[in-house]
Amino acid sequence: MNLKNYIRDIQGFPKEEILFKDITPLLNDPLAREYCLRVLLNSLGEQKIDKVVGAESRGFLFGMLLADRLNAGFVPVRKPKKLPFKTISASYDSEYGTDSLEIHVDAIQKGDKVLIHDDVLATGGTAKALAHLVNKLGGDIVQFNFLMELSFLNGRDKIKKYPIFTAINY
Ligand code: AMP
Repeated sequence: MNLKNYIRDIQGFPKEEILFKDITPLLNDPLAREYCLRVLLNSLGEQKIDKVVGAESRGFLFGMLLADRLNAGFVPVRKPKKLPFKTISASYDSEYGTDSLEIHVDAIQKGDKVLIHDDVLATGGTAKALAHLVNKLGGDIVQFNFLMELSFLNGRDKIKKYPIFTAINY
């Protein structure tokens, strides 16, 4: 199965210069979705995962599916002021501009084996902020995985000390 057939390019969304990778066709197809989930799971081999961290908002979708199959906890990382409990935050630059992300302080225990998931690895700013938050809470990052990587933006350079898996490459 070619997963690229389930990713739709939208030129100029949400800003003029961005070629947006729309994953809704993938979400909408149960066979392709299951195939993609298996590809992500297979990349982990037998490694134990305690927590899956997913970035708002599209990282929640496969992030939750991964957590369910791995019998792991799911930890949402969200934009500022969205999480109700005590948080820590990290600022970052992304393809869209500067922003920050927050995580609940009790979401990860020291030594937890963590898988970090998001839909797209673009400039890597989001991924770097996610790593910062997980490290601050004492989590042990086992792998980053993404549905796709925009490799011409060299985002993986920002998280090069961690294992990275991407199901689709552009
Ligand atoms: P970055 O921090 O630059 O690596 O951007 C990654 C984050 O922005 C991910 O959470 C993506 O959902 C989103 N993103 C960045 N670029 C795109 C794109 N071209 N299409 C869809 N989502 C994108």
